[in-house]
This record gives sequence, structure tokens and C-alpha cells, in this order.
Amino acid sequence: MVIGDLDISCNHKGVRMMNSSTHSGNELGRNEVGRIEVITGPMFSGKSEELIRRLKRARIARQRVACFKPDIDLRYHRTAIASHSEQTHDAMTVANVARMREVLYGLLPEVEVIGIDEAQFFDEAIVHLVGELVHMGKRILIAGLDTTFTGDPFGPIPALMAISDEVTKLSAVCIVCGAPAIHTQRLGASRELVVVGAAGVYEARCRACFRPYLNAPENEQMELSEAVER
Ligand code: ADP
Ligand code: MG
Ligand code: ZN
Repeated sequence: MVIGDLDISCNHKGVRMMNSSTHSGNELGRNEVGRIEVITGPMFSGKSEELIRRLKRARIARQRVACFKPDIDLRYHRTAIASHSEQTHDAMTVANVARMREVLYGLLPEVEVIGIDEAQFFDEAIVHLVGELVHMGKRILIAGLDTTFTGDPFGPIPALMAISDEVTKLSAVCIVCGAPAIHTQRLGASRELVVVGAAGVYEARCRACFRPYLNAPENEQMELSEAVER
């Protein structure tokens, strides 16, 4: 595929390879220093859009990019990340952090920028992997929910925020009142409906409109993170 004057090909691992003999540096003009960027906020806040935007800009800067997402729902694209606004970027679906490490180490040193979407679903091992990658000079872009639908910190995201160079905390629009929304409201109580991104299952709410236990007895609450343990 040719975009402008860039010749881009995509291999089966969802890695875009840039054929450029003039490649040098990253978007920040530095080769040797890695960087961790976390993009967080509730569902519908534009995390995937922002991740896709940064990945595309990295490719324009002739950097080689690899993108990953957890294996959480087979109904979604397996070879791409997607936003609710239907933007996509090639990505590889991996079962766990160990698998992502295996794939990544097979691709290094070609890959300079690593994107990870829905990072909240990975276990704490991702924090260590990201630490290794940044030490190697990679730029790691991580998108993930900061809180669960009960409003609690979500999986490894708080730790990733802590070790990052930059945190972008996005808000969505509260479906009830239109204010900036920091929460992900789960609608209904069914344990079956643990579906990332499904309209009608979750919606964005501001702090005032958020009802963490709406329609659900406390003992039936299911952490979104349980989805990966099915
Ligand atoms: P995230 O990855 O954070 O869930 P996406 O990048 O997939 O978010 O989607 C963001 C897009 O979702 C917005 O650009 C907008 O088109 C759409 N959207 C739907 N509901 C809302 C909402 N309540 N607030 C903001 N954007 C919304
Ligand atoms: Mg998303
Ligand atoms: Zn509100």
C-alpha cells in the first residue's frame, strides 16, 4: 500500500513496515530514549481514536509500529484495533502478556513504536514488559480504562500511569446531563454482558450521574477484568 510518498506494507503480525532508507529517530527526534505514554479515561472518551492518531503519526514519521490488544472478545476485529467512531489500525490479538512478549521479541529491533489498546485487560506482567521495552528505547503507547464500572482502579493501568512519561486522561460526554464524563456506567446486571464497546451495555457518565450499582445486587457485580478469565 502506498500512502503519499510512503511505501507501507503490512505483514501477518499486524506490523506496518516502512520501506525507507532515510529512517532515523522518532517523532521526538530521539532514538535512544524510550517513552511511555498512557491514554486513559472512561469508555467512549476517545482512547482508541487517540491511540490510532498517535500510531498513524508515528508511521508518517517513518517509524515502524506494532500494535496489540488482548483476546477479550472474538466478535471484534482480530487483526485491528477499532474505535467507536470506526477508525481502525492493524493490530495483533494476543492471549496474554507472555504471548505479547514472545511476539514482540521476535519483531525487535525492527519495531520502534508499540501500541497497546484495552491494556486494562492484561495482567500486572505488562508493567514489567513495558519497563523492559522503554529501557530498550522503545516508545510505548498504552490505551486503557482507568476505572471499572464500579469506579475502582482497573488492573495494571494505575501502575502504568505511575511509570509513564505522560498521562492523557480523556473524558467522554455524560449521556445523562452532557457534562464531561469520567465514569463508565454499566447498564443492567447480566453477567453475560461483559462486552467491551457494546452500545447499550455501558455508557459514559459524569461523577454526579454515575450509579455504580444500578440494577445490580452487590454480590452479582462482575469486574470487567473477569472477562479475560472466562
Ligand atoms: P474509547 O476507546 O475511549 O472507548 P473510542 O475512541 O473508541 O473511545 O470512541 C470515541 C468516539 O465515541 C467519539 O469520537 C464519539 O464518536 C463516540 N461516542 C459515543 N458515545 C460517546 C460519549 N458518550 N462521549 C463521547 N464520545 C462518544
Ligand atoms: Mg477503545
Ligand atoms: Zn452527568
